[in-house]
Amino acid sequence: MSRIVMKFGGTSVANMQRIRAVAAHVRREADAGKSVAVVVSAMAGETNRLVALCEEAGAPAPALDARGVEYDAVVASGEQVTSSLLALVLQNLGYRARSWQGWQIPLKTDAAHGKARIAEIDAEAIGAAMDGGEIAVVAGFQGIAPNGRIATLGRGGSDTSAVALAAAVGAERCDIYTDVDGVYTTDPRLAKKARRIAKISFEEMLEAASLGAKVLQTRSVELAMAHKVPLRVLSSFEPPDAQGPGTVICDEDDIVEQNIVSTVTPDFNDASVTILAVPDEPGRAAGIFTALADADINIDMIVQSASREPGYANISFTTKEGELDRALEVLSAEQDAIGFKSLQSDRKVAKVSVVGLGMKSHAGVASIMFKTLADKGINIQNISTSEIKISVLIDADAAEYAVRVLHEAYGLDDDRKPGA
Ligand code: ADP
Ligand code: ASP
Ligand code: MG
Repeated sequence: MSRIVMKFGGTSVANMQRIRAVAAHVRREADAGKSVAVVVSAMAGETNRLVALCEEAGAPAPALDARGVEYDAVVASGEQVTSSLLALVLQNLGYRARSWQGWQIPLKTDAAHGKARIAEIDAEAIGAAMDGGEIAVVAGFQGIAPNGRIATLGRGGSDTSAVALAAAVGAERCDIYTDVDGVYTTDPRLAKKARRIAKISFEEMLEAASLGAKVLQTRSVELAMAHKVPLRVLSSFEPPDAQGPGTVICDEDDIVEQNIVSTVTPDFNDASVTILAVPDEPGRAAGIFTALADADINIDMIVQSASREPGYANISFTTKEGELDRALEVLSAEQDAIGFKSLQSDRKVAKVSVVGLGMKSHAGVASIMFKTLADKGINIQNISTSEIKISVLIDADAAEYAVRVLHEAYGLDDDRKPGA
């Protein structure tokens, strides 16, 4: 029998009414003869509430010590509730259904509590239950670490649970149900003219996710790409008997017409750091970035520019807002060793990125971006590029406007929608 994995996010299981709507989608697939595993998130807002409680109790996320173990036990509880509630609703509809917590599968992770990676999934028992006609309702976001304790997979991690499970049980597809009916050319909440994309390549989706499009967790796209899991994004808010086509995430070769730019993605979680007057000599940048790496701080856009003082340079980089304080502490501790004069930081920045496979073969994509922003008086603080993306760092207040003007400049606007 063919197996499928369906995943429902927080807004899709936000209350009992929504959980009943999810059950109707699950029934459709079970009635069609599929062996079904359903992965669920916690109710919308619940994980945030649990994280805030942990912070109050002295566990800042993710803590890589004894606090991280307890943090994970708390924040994983949201999924325990929704998986069992959905199993109950399905049972009441006359289906055989059972909830599975991460440790019951078991879904084994590494030891990085709060941002664990999946090491291995033992799919035998759950696969047998599915094929025996029982709907497996899996608590997303969680697994079991080598120390035998619950570990969570980082925010948005239920997407990754679903894709990893789909790969482990050899599912014919993994359907991610959410509160939008697919992947859009930009976040539809920010731009009314955003359009649903029928097909997007794994590569573009991976880039967009890692640049801040939270519709899929980055790691889930990586896994789908590596294990060739057919992946779709669909809406759980559509009637189960009138499900739209959503977005198919597929190989580049399966896309006939490649867009030069397919998505415009803002990220409001960045912060920038400028290190002023670093001696302009070999080894200083190495000292800075080794200290940050040793503290496990992720760095993104880096720019070195000349300082006003001869023989010195300024070095700027971005990091995630949540890591800024630690980055500043690490650098301050190294000030004498590195020999810089002072540090500046800015939380009021945002990264705006354009992603598209067509960039590989088309010239002029960057100049459209820079000219469009210049025409609107938006100053670029920092730039980074890869083969299929260009990112700029700008003032956070200008970011939503920048998304809309870039969306239009790259011909992505949907002009059929009124009132946009
Ligand atoms: P879930 O709780 O179902 O996991 P998320 O909130 O994590 O849902 O992801 C869905 C949200 O992602 C949408 O509501 C939308 O605002 C946001 N989003 C950001 N970028 C995009 C995009 N390019 N296409 C679609 N949705 C996007
Ligand atoms: N509930 C978790 C979170 O809010 C995991 C998820 O929703 O994917 O991050
Ligand atoms: Mg999500």
